[in-house]
Amino acid sequence: MTSEDIGTPVAVVTGGARGIGLEIGRWFLANGHRVALIDIDGTTLTATATHLDNPARVLPVHADVADPQQVQAAVEAVARRFGRIDALINNAGVAVFKPIAETSFAEWRQVMATNLDGAFLCTQACVPLMRQGGGGSVVNIASISGLRASTLRVAYGTSKAALIHLTRQQAVELGTVGIRVNAIAPGPVETEMARQVHTAAIRADYHDTIPLNRYGTTGEIAAAVGFLCSAAASYVNGQVLAVDGGFDAAGVGLPALRRDALA
Ligand code: NAD
Repeated sequence: MTSEDIGTPVAVVTGGARGIGLEIGRWFLANGHRVALIDIDGTTLTATATHLDNPARVLPVHADVADPQQVQAAVEAVARRFGRIDALINNAGVAVFKPIAETSFAEWRQVMATNLDGAFLCTQACVPLMRQGGGGSVVNIASISGLRASTLRVAYGTSKAALIHLTRQQAVELGTVGIRVNAIAPGPVETEMARQVHTAAIRADYHDTIPLNRYGTTGEIAAAVGFLCSAAASYVNGQVLAVDGGFDAAGVGLPALRRDALA
């Protein structure tokens, strides 16, 4: 590590091998950070690191965020290699969309373990190094499904609602030591996860109920995360920012209103 490196901020992004996490990693790289990408999918992670082609600034770490020992080892690897952590993005997540009666306890646990335990464990593991550097910023990637209930999301929606409350707990406690914690609640975003769980009917419903009439992009989520980690958000703590094209703001009647506007 050179003295120049020591001054370069470091962002840790979980679930960074693909999708929203990868785009967040790209945002931090483009904005002068070194980046550690933590992911359970070793094959995709290796391919992503090769593609980014920036070994001086990108550290891929193969780990399961739901496993306390693996999380500890991953953060130690980041500490050894980069020596500091300025931002942590708890983005790793899994989705199971099933009716209550068909959601197995194993599926419920897998969703909770990844989406909720993962953010708890990674934050706990990163905080000591963040404090050593004088503070930092944590962003938890929740979901609009954590703000509004909808069918088939008993495990996913409940895990994200809990993550939103965890964000507030963390913000209140960690704010006192200079670490701001906020959440982003994305609406539907075009990624592999969305392709797996959004049927054609769900896609059409989303278009109908989102004022902007489209899915979001990974870049739009990454830009909001970047804002929350930047000096421009230095007094923002404990907030949930819905990046959802207005979905959370809308009530009934939107398709009719849209038809009238176009008439
Ligand atoms: P994705 O499935 O494309 O990527 C998720 C990444 O997380 C994958 O690389 C996966 O290997 C990794 N991961 C999963 N479990 C892990 C674990 N236990 N440990 C480490 N890594 C793990 O999903 P995405 O669409 O990019 O979603 C990213 C985040 O955004 C998730 O938290 C998701 O719930 C949230 N989100 C997505 C949407 C959407 O429409 N895509 C909407 C709202 C919220």
